Amino acid sequence: MNVHDSEKIRGLLSNSGYMNAMTPSDADLIVFNTCSIREKAEQKFYSQLGRIKHLKFKNKDVKIAVAGCVAQDSKDKILKRAPYVDYILGPQNINSLSDLIYEARGMAVDWDPAIAESEFLPSRDSKTRAWVSIMYGCNNFCSYCIVPYTRGREVSRPSQNILSEISQLYDSGYKEITLLGQNVNSYSSDVDFPCLLEKIDRIGVPRVRFVTSHPGDMSSGLVDAMASLKSVCEHIHLPIQSGSDRILKLMNRRYGLEDYINKVNALKNRVPDISITADVIVGFPGETEADYQLTLSMLKEIEFDGLFAFKYSRRKGTRADEFKDHIPEEIKTDRLNRLLRAQEEITHQKNVLLEGTVQEILIEGASESNPRTLQGRTRTNKIVTIENNGEQEGEFLLAEIKHARLHSLEGIRRSEKQAHQLVP
Ligand code: SAH
Ligand code: SF4
Repeated sequence: MNVHDSEKIRGLLSNSGYMNAMTPSDADLIVFNTCSIREKAEQKFYSQLGRIKHLKFKNKDVKIAVAGCVAQDSKDKILKRAPYVDYILGPQNINSLSDLIYEARGMAVDWDPAIAESEFLPSRDSKTRAWVSIMYGCNNFCSYCIVPYTRGREVSRPSQNILSEISQLYDSGYKEITLLGQNVNSYSSDVDFPCLLEKIDRIGVPRVRFVTSHPGDMSSGLVDAMASLKSVCEHIHLPIQSGSDRILKLMNRRYGLEDYINKVNALKNRVPDISITADVIVGFPGETEADYQLTLSMLKEIEFDGLFAFKYSRRKGTRADEFKDHIPEEIKTDRLNRLLRAQEEITHQKNVLLEGTVQEILIEGASESNPRTLQGRTRTNKIVTIENNGEQEGEFLLAEIKHARLHSLEGIRRSEKQAHQLVP
């Protein structure tokens, strides 16, 4: 979501005549788009802000803007620590940047539900894969989470605006759309989320993804949509957070382990080969070793294709920050490491199951680790590397998976005919 907000900021600035600078020292305006989900992200921002301070003293005409969730949550702290910052704008006020830049200094941090009606012209990183916002904010108030305080209440973008943005992207050759919202399952305008997917499917974009789904709001309608709509990819990111019902309750997640497992089983039954990934938090206040063991056994039972795991991070203003029994850092680190080790084995085994299968991959460009190979992604969101025969970003290829690594798969090209021979 932050990456896409940055694309919107870049779009606004390029409409006002700005161009990308190669380095901060070449820039007339430096914008930090910040994240406050965990303390580490926030600390990174403060240290980077300190590092560019000298540019402002060298040239007083250079302007510095701080956008995003840290700006919303800590405006006073920023101005106190860094009085050289010129503009502050919250996540709902991105649009204000085009006006602010004509002022000497300024701040825009008002909660503005009109963001749902705002249309942006993002300057996108990719010519083939695009993020599209479908809703803003969050009403869930999970007890650990700062998002509802920084991004405000849920508002859904009118479906007509979403559909016309996606149609334009399709006409310009985009192959994959990822719909964005903190809780896409509670999308609600004239249509609900499964119905929105149905309308998007008719546009013809080959691949449609969405993040993030809250398990509490995942309906059977969504399972039906995933099973029946051709464009909707066979992957869901469904954060579970913990395997202990006691902790889930303290987190205010509104579901228990059994509900979660039932939903996952419904998905697995209806969408063969679906890949499921999740987020987990370890070391939530009061988490005992027994609670943690329930998380470990849950991982072994569900067998996620991939997992993002985090140490609980205290966020001021959230309910969990006031809870007793905060877990010492060394215990959190130990629990995180054990969890990651357990998941690595599962992820690798899941990847090994794909050896010998043929997958459709969408080429993303040269591989990060070896520019002589190309990197593509399966519909299930797994990375496949393949010999570089000069195919371009945005092309589809068929690849037979020859070797499973931990975080990617190695494939070889197959023609349609060869693929048919391999998969009866
Ligand atoms: N709206 C999405 C998640 C957005 S935040 C959802 O509910 O699924 C992404 C992930 O960050 C969360 O799923 C959670 O695992 C993690 N997270 C959020 N707040 C955190 C905190 N205070 N400490 C550690 N991890 C946190
Ligand atoms: Fe945070 Fe929960 Fe909302 Fe996700 S659903 S953004 S974790 S409050």
